[in-house]
Amino acid sequence: MGVIKFNHLTNDVLVDVGMERARQDRIHPDTLSLLERFPVLVEEVGEVGTALQTKNKANLYEELVQVAAEAVRMAEQVAEERGVMND
Ligand SMILES: [Mg+2]
Repeated sequence: MGVIKFNHLTNDVLVDVGMERARQDRIHPDTLSLLERFPVLVEEVGEVGTALQTKNKANLYEELVQVAAEAVRMAEQVAEERGVMND
């Protein structure tokens, strides 16, 4: 894959998502099915809603990053399973 240049804000957010993604593997290394992961994603989305309601901008950012990282984790799993199916 080639190198993609993002604007600095996109780059900063993606770095935070990447760090959160690495943290997930450290603190939750468990292997779950996509169906088991889905409620985790939904829970994180719910936490975004709570952060919006409480107008907590710092928490809102963290929760959005957690949603993105969980979505990345699931996308990785789909890609991996697709790769296995293509073998
Ligand atoms: Mg959260």
